[in-house]
Amino acid sequence: MKNEVKSFIDFSSSEIHKALSECGADSYRLNQINDWIYSKYVQKWEDMANLPKDLLMKLSTLAPLHPLEEINCSGLGSDPTQKFLFLTSKKNKIESVLMRQGSRVTVCISSQSGCAVDCDFCATASMGFKQNLSTGEIVDQVLQLSNRSSLKITNVVFMGMGEPFLNYQKVVEAAKIMNEKMNLGSRRITISTAGIVSKIYQMADDKLPFKLAVSLNAPNDEIRKVIMPLTITNPINELLKAAEYYYNKLRRFITFEYVLLENVNSDEKCARQLIHLLKNIPCKVNLIPYNEIESEYKRPSNISINNFERILKEAPFTTTVRWSKGTNIDAGCGQLAVRV
Ligand code: SAH
Repeated sequence: MKNEVKSFIDFSSSEIHKALSECGADSYRLNQINDWIYSKYVQKWEDMANLPKDLLMKLSTLAPLHPLEEINCSGLGSDPTQKFLFLTSKKNKIESVLMRQGSRVTVCISSQSGCAVDCDFCATASMGFKQNLSTGEIVDQVLQLSNRSSLKITNVVFMGMGEPFLNYQKVVEAAKIMNEKMNLGSRRITISTAGIVSKIYQMADDKLPFKLAVSLNAPNDEIRKVIMPLTITNPINELLKAAEYYYNKLRRFITFEYVLLENVNSDEKCARQLIHLLKNIPCKVNLIPYNEIESEYKRPSNISINNFERILKEAPFTTTVRWSKGTNIDAGCGQLAVRV
C-alpha cells in the first residue's frame, strides 16, 4: 500500500477553513498564505515570514505544503529549456518543461502520470497509464517551476504527459486556479487533447475560457487510425462536428496540431487533403516536426517540412510550425517518458 499524504495545496476550501480554525488562526491569514503560495511561490511553511511561528509550526504538522517532490532537473540554469522530474504523492513520476523565449516563459505540464491513449509515435505511451494527477499536483508544477526559475510564467500548455480530457475535472479546476489565483490570463492557458470528442462538447457547454488545441495529426481516418488508435471511437468527422459546435458556441478558433512524420502524413497529397478537410472550419494549424524517440517513425527533412507548410499557406486558415525546444534533453513534444 502506497503511503499517500494530502498536501495543503490539494485541500478543498472547506478543508482549508477547518485546518485554519483547528490551528486557531484568524480568517485573514488565508489571504497571506495564498499570497505566499500563489504569488511568491514559497516552498516551505517556515518561509512565510509575516505569519506567527507557532501557527506555521501547527500548519506544518497538519499537512505538507506541496504535493510534488522534485527529483531531477536537466538543462542548466542558462539553458532556454529545462526539464523537471517530480514524484507525485502516490510516488509516480511526471515531467514538466520550462521554456524561455524572450519575455515569453512557457511551462508545459502533465495532467497524468503516463497515458492510456497509446498514440503510436508518442514516448509517454510506452509508460502505460499510472495515475490521474490531483488539482494540486497540476498547479504545483507551475508553482515549483516559477520558484526554481524566479520567472513570471506567461503561458501554460497542457502538452506534457497524459491526456487532459481523461482527467477533465481536475484539469479544469487547476486551470481556474492558475487563472484566478496566479493571475494568468485564460487565453494563455492551452489545453491540448488527442481528440476526445465528448469533452470538446463539454468544454464548449461549460463555456471554458481557455484555449483548445486538438491533435489531429492526419488528414484522414485511415492514416489516423494507424498512429492514433482512439480514432476508432473518435473519428475525424465527429471531431470536426465538435470543433464547429465549439466555434459556434464560443466564437473561438481551435488550433489543430499536426505532427509531421516522414512517409506517413507529410507528403503533398496529405497537405492538400488537410486543406480540403479544414477549409470550412474556423481554425489554426500548428505543424510539429516529429521529435525522434525510440520508434519506427522518422522526422521529415526540413525541405519536406517547409514544403508542407508552403502548400498549407494556400489554405484559408493560418499555419505555423513549432520548432520544438529542448530536444537535446528529450524535453520536446512527445518526448516525455520516464524510463523505467
Ligand atoms: N494528450 C494530449 C497532450 C500531450 S501531447 C494530446 O495528444 O494533445 C502534446 C502534443 O505533442 C500533441 O499534439 C502530440 O501529437 C504531440 N506529440 C506527441 N509525440 C510527439 C513527438 N514525438 N514529436 C512531436 N510531437 C509529438
